[in-house]
Amino acid sequence: MTPGWVIVSFLLPPLAAVLAASLLRPKNPRPEILIALNAILPGAGLAAAGRPTIEIVMGVVFAQVSLILVGGIQNIWMYAPSMVVGGCWALFHTSLSPLARSARKIEELRRRIPESDSSASRKPSPSTASLTATEDNDETVVETNYCVEVKCSECGAAVPVPVLHHMAHCSFCGSDHLVVGHEETLFVTLPERVYDANVLRESLLDHYRYRYYLNLYRRAVAPLAGRATEATPSGALVNRPELDAAIGAAEAMVSRKADDYRSKLAQNLHVGTTLHFLTPYRHGMGTLYQAAFGRSQRDQEKLLRFDIGTIEAAVSAVASVDFPPMGKLSYLRALQPAANLSTEMLSMPLEGDDGDLALAFGDLDRKRLARDIQAIKLGSRFTREVTAVVWRPWWIAEVRGPDIDETVLLDSAAGSVVGPAPAVNPTLLVELPQAARESGAGLRFVPMECPTCGHEFPFDPDAVLHFCHNCHRVCGVTEGRKADVEYGHIPWPEEPGWDLVPFWRFPLRLRTGDGELLTDLVRLKDGIDGTFDQIGDDVPVRQHLFFVPAIRCINPRLMANAFNRLFLF
Ligand SMILES: [Zn+2]
Ligand SMILES: [Zn+2]
Repeated sequence: MTPGWVIVSFLLPPLAAVLAASLLRPKNPRPEILIALNAILPGAGLAAAGRPTIEIVMGVVFAQVSLILVGGIQNIWMYAPSMVVGGCWALFHTSLSPLARSARKIEELRRRIPESDSSASRKPSPSTASLTATEDNDETVVETNYCVEVKCSECGAAVPVPVLHHMAHCSFCGSDHLVVGHEETLFVTLPERVYDANVLRESLLDHYRYRYYLNLYRRAVAPLAGRATEATPSGALVNRPELDAAIGAAEAMVSRKADDYRSKLAQNLHVGTTLHFLTPYRHGMGTLYQAAFGRSQRDQEKLLRFDIGTIEAAVSAVASVDFPPMGKLSYLRALQPAANLSTEMLSMPLEGDDGDLALAFGDLDRKRLARDIQAIKLGSRFTREVTAVVWRPWWIAEVRGPDIDETVLLDSAAGSVVGPAPAVNPTLLVELPQAARESGAGLRFVPMECPTCGHEFPFDPDAVLHFCHNCHRVCGVTEGRKADVEYGHIPWPEEPGWDLVPFWRFPLRLRTGDGELLTDLVRLKDGIDGTFDQIGDDVPVRQHLFFVPAIRCINPRLMANAFNRLFLF
C-alpha cells in the first residue's frame, strides 16, 4: 500500500461528504443521484440527503475502512461490495425505498379514516362540511352546478342537463334541444342506491363491518402509525420506515378480521321493522353580483372590483323532525324528476315556504367572491335562477344482532348509515303533491328552431336569449313558449368581418348617500373640495346609459375586466 493511497483513503470520503452537504443538499437532489453518490463514496450521498451527522460519520468511516482494505488502485474490484452497501444504505432514505412506498399507502389509508369520532354511526355526512362553512366569518364561494335528468323529446332517453344550462345535447340520439322551464319550481328526487330490502341488509352489514374495522384499527394500527412519524426536538418530522412494514401487516390483519366479522354477522343480523320514505328539502341556486370597494391586500392601493358567482342553498322542509342537512347537490349524481317515483313512496309533508329558503342563503355580504381585497364597502345583489323541491330517500331500520340493538337512519341515496333514527310517525306520511306528479313539468326540451324562419340556433348552453343568424331575430323563452325579443342595434357596418357583441343597456339611477337620485354622472359630487363640483346651474340634466356586456366568460375575472373596461370608456 502506497502512502498516497492511505492519504486518499482518509481524506477523500470526509471531503466528499462536506462538499455534498454544502453544494448538493440545498438543491434537494433526485433519489437516483443520492443512491449513486453514496455507492461511489458512502457518506457523501447521506450528506446530500440531509441525514443526521452521526449517520454521515458512520458512512464516511465505512468508506475509509473499505478503501484501506482495498489497498490500492490495482485491487479496485474489491470495492464493489462496499458500493452495493452504500447504494442500499441511501436507497432506504429515499422515496424509491419499498418501505417508503408501503408507508405512503398506509398514510393514505389513515387519512381516509376519521380520527376523532368514536363510532362509525356518527360519521359526519358530506353535508356537515357545507354547514360549517357558514359559521366562518366569510365564506369563499365556489362555482356550483348540478344536473337534472330530462327526457329527450326525440328518443326518450334520460339526458343529464346541468340545471343552469339553456341548451342540451342528447348523446344517445345526437339531437340538440332548447331547455325550458327554469322559472318553474323543479320537483326532483335523488337517485337511490338502497332500492330494496336486500340492498338495505347489505348496506347495514357494510356499516357494522366498518364500525368493527375502525375499532380494531384504533387499537392495533393507529398506535403504530403514530410512532412511525415522530417529531424531533427541532420540530422536524422523522419517518421511521422500519415500523411501516409492521403497520402494513397490522392493517391487513385488521381488514381480514373485519371481513370475518361481516360474514359471521350475516348469519345473525336480524333486520326488524323498516320504514322507507322521503323527506322534502327546498333548494335554490342563482347568481351573486358583488361590487367591492376596498384596498388591495398586495399593495394597499384603493380598488373597486366587480365579481359574479353562482351560489346555492338548501333547507329541510320538515320542521317537526330533525333530518341531516342537504349539502351541496353538485357533488351528487344527476337528480331525477319526482314524477318518476313509485306512487307507493310516501313522504313527510312539505312544510314552510319559500321564505325559509331565502333565509338559508344567509347574509350575502358575507359571501365573498373576491378574496384579494380588504373590503371597506360591499354591495351584493342576488338573482335566484333555479328553485327546486328535492325529495330525499331514507330508510329507518330496527337492527338486532350480537351487541347490536338499535334503530338507525340510513341515507338511501348515499347508501350509508347516518346515525340513530329520529322518531317518525308512519301515519303522518303523505303522497307527493299533485304538482310533483305531473310529468312534462319542470325542465323539458323544445326544438332548437327559430319560431319565425325555422333556422336552427347555434349551440350555446349558457345563452338565455338566442340569436337567429338567418333572420336576425332574437328569441327568448317564457313559460315554455318561444317569443321574439325586441332589441336595438347600431347601423350594420358596410365592410364585412364584423362580430356581433350583445349588451344590456341600463339607464343610470344612482342613489347617493344623502338620498338624491342621479341620472347624470356629471352631477355626482365628491363633497371634498368644490373643484370638480362646478358644472354650472344652466347645464341640462341628462340621462346617462350604461352598457353591460351580455356575455358570460367562464372565468369571472375576465368578465369583470371586460365590464370594467366598458364601464370606464
Ligand atoms: Zn335523444
Ligand atoms: Zn329566424
